[in-house]
Amino acid sequence: MHYTDIAQTHFTLNYSSGFSGKAFDITEPATGKVLGNINAATSDEAAAVIAKCKAAQPEWANTTFETRAGILRRFACQLAENAELIHTWNARECGSIRPKSEWELQACIEQAYMAAAQTQAPSGELYPSVIPGRKNMRVRIPVGVVGVIAPWNFPLLLALRAVLPALAMGNAVVLKPDPQSVITGGVIIQELLAAAGLPESVLGMLPGGAEPGQALVEHNDTGMIAFTGSTAVGRSIAQHCAKTFKKTSLELGGNNAFIVLEDADITSASSCAAWGAFLHQGQICMQSGRHIVHESVAEAYTQALVERANNLYVGNPFTEQCHLGPLINPMQANKVTALINDSVSMGAKVLTGGSTDGQLFRPTVVADVTAEMPLFKEEIFGPVAPIITFKTEQEAISLANASSLGLSASIHTGNSARGEYLAGLIHAGMVHVNDQTVNNEYHIPFGGLKDSGDAGRIGGPVNLDEFTHTKWISVMDKGIQYPF
Ligand code: NAD
Repeated sequence: MHYTDIAQTHFTLNYSSGFSGKAFDITEPATGKVLGNINAATSDEAAAVIAKCKAAQPEWANTTFETRAGILRRFACQLAENAELIHTWNARECGSIRPKSEWELQACIEQAYMAAAQTQAPSGELYPSVIPGRKNMRVRIPVGVVGVIAPWNFPLLLALRAVLPALAMGNAVVLKPDPQSVITGGVIIQELLAAAGLPESVLGMLPGGAEPGQALVEHNDTGMIAFTGSTAVGRSIAQHCAKTFKKTSLELGGNNAFIVLEDADITSASSCAAWGAFLHQGQICMQSGRHIVHESVAEAYTQALVERANNLYVGNPFTEQCHLGPLINPMQANKVTALINDSVSMGAKVLTGGSTDGQLFRPTVVADVTAEMPLFKEEIFGPVAPIITFKTEQEAISLANASSLGLSASIHTGNSARGEYLAGLIHAGMVHVNDQTVNNEYHIPFGGLKDSGDAGRIGGPVNLDEFTHTKWISVMDKGIQYPF
């Protein structure tokens, strides 16, 4: 049975990946039902895919920009034409509610058009020379084979935001999706790019977990690893890549501060908070994870947020309309429960939620949180809003900066100039004034600071440099005479 059928039926998918590693299950998180299985790629098979991509890359890099742009534009059309299939898999395999899936798909379509347009960008610059008659060129060249390793929470977007610009710049790509989103973030991408006319050997896809991922990282013929995932795995990838000076683009974890100052509009702040904390069950790197609230407005803010949380319905996004779907797996539900229980044992109070029905976790608001509690210190990746209070602006900034992670942050204030000033004091790669922390616009450079990444950026104009190397070529008409 093909993956296009399983989305609409109750049969089990036995998708032939063409690999011989151990088969793993594709499980529907809302029901625990096994939807199908697929064989993982072994390290040897990963090496064979990399070799095929390496051999195909020079010809791909030499195609005209019109050819590459045409394929990328047709891929955007393929995404749009297959929207229902994609939404169904995103709901069933990854627990995405429909609006989240629709936003993700639209962002991918825009990414594809942007990547198509970027094939037309200048491939370098001319510089003047200190030597008369010399032409100095800075030329962008493809990296070669780019390994893209993606997580399961926005499986399509977090793969494509690297796959598409890498292809546009003339690289071959080997994609390793998370096993929990192998259809949405792997098989569908591979098949729709093939349908758009991408030569088969220019894109490889490796189903499986750490083994094929590590093979990509360690292989001498991958020139770059674009990784989105946890800080722990990102750190180990950075260490491996440093040994061979392999280029990396690392987009890692977050524990994002959401500051509410005493002059904030509480209706808007609590709306932003509910969205930033509970969207996609809080399983977003930019989740509003630490609510740092001025003591004078804490009560009003907390009440408003509890009310919003109580109005949310948690269910199965494939069969019913709901605000929140399931957490991705039972381990994640246990981890979130443990973070809450450990914080409660240290004095925190659960005001609403805190309970889970299988992987269906109620949106949770926790008050009386302190900076020593696990809910403050750790990335939650579940629908929990921990609230900590402060007295002075300085205290708010130190609480915001008291994390080794620095991905996103937000500040709510009635004075946008004050917000802009404070944004400059927060150690995070992205800060939003009078909004929440979950923001992604495909054309704006995106990324974190500190342990949230290698401070590289993906998105918009920076993609041209992110997915290429630079070469300096200088040309003289005649040879030069040196003093000896
Ligand atoms: P993870 O690091 O466990 O897995 C991510 C990917 O890495 C998966 O494809 C996985 O199979 C692969 N992988 C696992 N071990 C590997 C290894 N040793 N070598 C190579 N590849 C390996 O991440 P996760 O916990 O599943 O995802 C959630 C994390 O991702 C959170 O920390 C979240 O904040 C982060 N994230 C970051 C961003 C961002 O843009 N900064 C976006 C989404 C998620």
